[in-house]
Amino acid sequence: MKAISCAAPGRLALVEIDPPVLRPGWVRIGIRYIGICGTDYHIFEGNHPFLEYPRIMGHELSGVVLDANGGATLEAGDAVVVNPYLPCYACPACREGKTNCCETLKVIGVHCDGGMAEEIVMPEANLYPAAGISLRDAAMVEFLAIGAHAVRRSELKPGDRALVVGSGPIGLGVAFFAGIAGADVTVVDAAPDKIAVTRDLGFRAFGLAELDGDAFKAVKRSGFDAVFDATGSIRAMNASLLHTRSGGSYTLVGVIKGDLVWPDPEVHRRELTIRGSRNATKEDFDHVMDSIRSGQVPTGSLATHATTFDRVPADLPAWTHNREGLIKAIVTV
Ligand SMILES: [Zn+2]
Ligand SMILES: [Zn+2]
Repeated sequence: MKAISCAAPGRLALVEIDPPVLRPGWVRIGIRYIGICGTDYHIFEGNHPFLEYPRIMGHELSGVVLDANGGATLEAGDAVVVNPYLPCYACPACREGKTNCCETLKVIGVHCDGGMAEEIVMPEANLYPAAGISLRDAAMVEFLAIGAHAVRRSELKPGDRALVVGSGPIGLGVAFFAGIAGADVTVVDAAPDKIAVTRDLGFRAFGLAELDGDAFKAVKRSGFDAVFDATGSIRAMNASLLHTRSGGSYTLVGVIKGDLVWPDPEVHRRELTIRGSRNATKEDFDHVMDSIRSGQVPTGSLATHATTFDRVPADLPAWTHNREGLIKAIVTV
C-alpha cells in the first residue's frame, strides 16, 4: 500500500509499504481524509523534540472499516473517526479516566507510525462511528476535541467572559467550544491576517497593538473569568496570565519546551487556578461530533486548504513555509 514517509527533516516521499498486520481486538481502517496538524509541520521541519525518523505522520483521521476483525460494535463499511491516542489503561491517570494524559501515552503519527497511509489498524476502542457527519468533517474532530477538552477543563459557565490567546486551529477550537458552553468569547492574536479570519468567523478579536486601547479594556474590565493560551509562545504564555480576574482560571493548551515565569503576587492575589490541558478523551470527541451534527461548528470555513494524497509531498512543505490564510488543510485519500 501507499504511505507518505518523512525519512528525515525536510524529506517527505510517497513510499510503498506492507499493509499493517491485524491483531486481536484491533480493526483495519481504510483512511479517507487526513487533517494536517501544526505537529506535522513541526515533524517535517525537524522541530519536534524526541521524534524518531523515519516517521509516517498523520493523526487527524477519518476512514471506513475494512475488516472489523470480529469486533463487538463495528462492521465493515462503517465510517469512523480515529482517536489517535494509545493509552496504557493501567497507570493512575488512565485508571481515573484521564487517558489523555497517560504516563506512557503514544500518539500515532508522532510516537509511532500514523495515518498518512492507505490503511491503518487501531484498537476498536479508538474508533467512533461517524454517523451523521461527513468523512471530511470526521477528520476535523480530533483537533477540535483538543479545544473542547480545554473548555471542559476550565469549568466555564454560561455567561462567563473567556479570553482565548492564539487563533490557530487549536485556539479557534477553544473559541468555538467556549461559545457553545455559553461564554462571551474574545480572541487575541499577534498576526493581522489571523485576526481578520477570526473576525470573519464571528468572534470579537484584537491584535497585540490593540490591547492597550479602550475597546479591549472595556471588554476585559478587571479581568476575564477564564483565559486560555493556545499560542505555543513563551512570551504570550507568561503575559496572558495577567488578563485573568481575581478568582479566575488560566488554562494552558499550547505547549512549549521551556520554563514559564509568573509573578507570584499576581497568582496569589487572584487565588488563580492554573491548569494544563492535554489532548482529549472520548467524551470530548463525542461532544465535538454532536456539535458538528447540530451545525454549531462551521467546519467548511475551517477547512481552508485541500489536497490529494499523492500531492502531500509537494503541498505540505509549501504550507510549512507559507501558512497565510491557512487554518486547516485536509488531504483526500
Ligand atoms: Zn493535531
Ligand atoms: Zn496510562
